[in-house]
Amino acid sequence: LRVQENYNLSGLNTFGLDIKARYFVRVQDKESLYEALEFARDRQHTVLVLGGGSNIVFSGDYGGLVLTPDFRGVDIARGEVSAGAGENWHRLVRHTLDAGLSGLENLSLIPGHVGAAPIQNIGAYGQELENVFLKLEATNIRTGEDAIFQKSDCEFGYRASIFKNNFRDCWVITRVYLTLSEVYSPILAYKDVQEEVARLQIDDPAPENISDIVIAIRRRKLPDVSVQGNVGSFFKNPIISSEQRDKIQQEYADLPSRHAEDHQYKIPAAWLIEHAGMKGMESGGAMVSEQHALVFVNIGSATVTDVARLTELVSSAVHKHFGIQLEIEPAHY
Ligand SMILES: Cc1cc2nc3c(=O)[nH]c(=O)nc-3n(C[C@H](O)[C@H](O)[C@H](O)COP(=O)(O)OP(=O)(O)OC[C@H]3O[C@@H](n4cnc5c(N)ncnc54)[C@H](O)[C@@H]3O)c2cc1C
Repeated sequence: LRVQENYNLSGLNTFGLDIKARYFVRVQDKESLYEALEFARDRQHTVLVLGGGSNIVFSGDYGGLVLTPDFRGVDIARGEVSAGAGENWHRLVRHTLDAGLSGLENLSLIPGHVGAAPIQNIGAYGQELENVFLKLEATNIRTGEDAIFQKSDCEFGYRASIFKNNFRDCWVITRVYLTLSEVYSPILAYKDVQEEVARLQIDDPAPENISDIVIAIRRRKLPDVSVQGNVGSFFKNPIISSEQRDKIQQEYADLPSRHAEDHQYKIPAAWLIEHAGMKGMESGGAMVSEQHALVFVNIGSATVTDVARLTELVSSAVHKHFGIQLEIEPAHY
């Protein structure tokens, strides 16, 4: 087991924050995972599981053990697919499409590892992981015991699961199982996707067409992490009551909204941020992207303080203008 001390994590979080872990270890099999957890237990260190670092914001150096589960291997047997936690998500998507399976095409190009996908029930362009999720294998951080979580155990919700709530930082996910389909019915819920299908005059889109379209839209809309560090959406889209929506619409008739459950509405946080005058707002090296107001970008050596200040500035501006409290989407430590 190769535990490294005072390990620099700047290349391991896509925002590019220059922070350190007291200890860092990468594990590729169960034996080394058990050993790493024992190492932390013996020294009474907390454990932070780090995948691709594309949905995580740090508020300082991490004082415990940062552990990356680099479990590999993809198995495809008819519609059932399983993949090790350390596999790249987008590569898995393309692999399943090559195998003639559909279900993941709308989730193309989401950065990160397979093991992190259930944490916030990743979703994009009308599809969410929970719709294709079967089960996962995980190891308990405190006891080292292995367990299987079926879909109903995971309490999936909008950018949420039990692993982001009650079981936060309790389990290391090692393998994820999905059920995909050999029969295809395209998910065209999003206007951007519909418009692109029409523009390209595709009468009967195949999963690969939708994947290519989603990739093109994402490349056009989102800042490129290799150019400007970021963690994708910085806030969740808030869900508000119909009364609250009606009140805001009295002043802003063009307020976009999508119907959610129980007479509630999901409002695009990007719209709120833009209309609160925060697009392009800077705090040191951190900025609200000019390209997409929901994304904070690193415009050069952003510090944890810069990110914290920008979070506060944007949240309070949105609260002041609309009375809505934004909730941060990435995991924060
Ligand atoms: C440009 C960009 C676009 C994005 N677009 C989307 C999008 O459209 N939809 C969407 O849902 N997300 C999106 N994201 C967020 C992110 O890509 C996903 O949440 C992704 O699943 C995170 O994977 P990761 O491996 O980088 O996780 P990390 O950032 O490493 O970790 C995120 C959280 O998961 C935990 N975790 C990670 N791996 C494991 C594991 N094996 N076991 C237990 N816990 C674990 C961590 O402890 C942490 O709490 C985007 C991010 C970026 C940068």
